[in-house]
Amino acid sequence: MVKPKTEEEIALLRENAIIVSKTLAEVGKAVAPGVSTLELNRVAETCIRDHGAIPSFLGFEGFPAAICASVNDVVVHGFPSDYILKEGDIVTADIGTLYKGYNGDSAYTFPVGEVSKETRKLLDVTKASLYKGIEAAVEGNRTGDIGYAVQSYVESFGFSVVRELEGHGIGKEMHEMPGVPNYGRRGRGALLTDGMTICIEPMVNAGGKSVYLDRNGWAVHTSDRKNSAHYELTVVVRRGKAELLSTFDFIEKDGTIRF
Ligand code: MG
Ligand code: MG
Repeated sequence: MVKPKTEEEIALLRENAIIVSKTLAEVGKAVAPGVSTLELNRVAETCIRDHGAIPSFLGFEGFPAAICASVNDVVVHGFPSDYILKEGDIVTADIGTLYKGYNGDSAYTFPVGEVSKETRKLLDVTKASLYKGIEAAVEGNRTGDIGYAVQSYVESFGFSVVRELEGHGIGKEMHEMPGVPNYGRRGRGALLTDGMTICIEPMVNAGGKSVYLDRNGWAVHTSDRKNSAHYELTVVVRRGKAELLSTFDFIEKDGTIRF
């Protein structure tokens, strides 16, 4: 049984979620052909620290950077590097904060310049599947209801859901119980109760679901080298409708950038 968060804890998680959301938007403004993923890392780390927060990924189990920057066939956990983004690439920024003893964690896949129609579709479907998952994150449902909602939506477009990685509870620890898989069966898994805080994060492959671990021990690639997208938000399970803590509004409703 997972203990729900108090409203005080939820308020602190919301503060983290807003810092992460704003940082994702800053990274999004910097995404362009000719920019390195190390530069995106620098933008993010500066933004996080300017808000008085700590980049929680830096040093987490030895991770070497403030953000994960995963390009094209990299599903998650890419190291920022001197790789120069080019027109038609996609890059996922996954960002975590530690602030006032609580964690923030959200992710967004950005197109670099103009991307192919198929890639645009992958991004749109992956993000929409996240909102399908959020719709299922209500009291009385189970984690399997979230996974089912994500998986059935994604597969109806012929894309596939990565099985090896999943969403999670969040609080004083970045990764808490329960695990929140992006596939599953309705009515199975951990029971969701009012006040539980979870990160829902579909990782969706344009091709097959198979992935492999890079030799560096971190980056997860698609086995067929096709693109993969990843969107993550933090929500509070509530009665009837989940409450969003993080948001993509800073990215999508800023007025200067639209994806
Ligand atoms: Mg994340
Ligand atoms: Mg996460």
